[in-house]
Amino acid sequence: MMKYFILFGPPGAGKGTQATAMVEAYNLRHISTGALLRQEISAGSELGLKAKALIDAGALVPDEIVEGMIESEFRTVKGVDGFLLDGFPRTIEQAKALDRMLAANGEEVTSVVSIMIPDSMIRERIHHRATIEGRADDAKDETISNRIATYHNQTEPLVEYYSKAGKYNEIDGTGTIDDVRKAIFDLMDRF
Ligand code: ADP
Repeated sequence: MMKYFILFGPPGAGKGTQATAMVEAYNLRHISTGALLRQEISAGSELGLKAKALIDAGALVPDEIVEGMIESEFRTVKGVDGFLLDGFPRTIEQAKALDRMLAANGEEVTSVVSIMIPDSMIRERIHHRATIEGRADDAKDETISNRIATYHNQTEPLVEYYSKAGKYNEIDGTGTIDDVRKAIFDLMDRF
């Protein structure tokens, strides 16, 4: 059975940082929908153009777009023990689509690893990242506020969705990178 870990948490929770360590230690393929969308934007594709306006507004891109990206990764990537989904699912509809995709092959979500930090820390982390990575969606306060609101309105309901399925596991993301990584590895070792 392939493993399907979902890395969950608000923007700036440290998902990208931890994902790198997780995929290496557990031979997983990292799928970041945000990174895939940013690739489309730099390539100047039609999809990228459409996505850019939404991302810069702090909104989500349409479910069908990210679902298509995920499906194509599942189909084409070989030689791994599983996948680490980072930034997907972000809506209840996406979570249901993922359940359907996996069930079609007799598979299911292994576990949700949720890194939690308070809203005040979200802003701090994003401002810090802006000075390092130069992401357009990290630069404007209004965009950041909208992303936080989008997270609470559209993505946070997934906490209940996966709790009911018995798959939700929360990690305190306020500690050091090493502390958070240790807590995540302790959890992943159980699967
Ligand atoms: P962060 O980790 O800071 O939230 P991401 O790199 O995951 O940033 O995503 C950047 C932006 O890309 C999001 O704000 C959103 O507009 C878009 N995006 C990423 N993943 C999804 C998704 N699953 N559904 C819809 N939009 C997405």
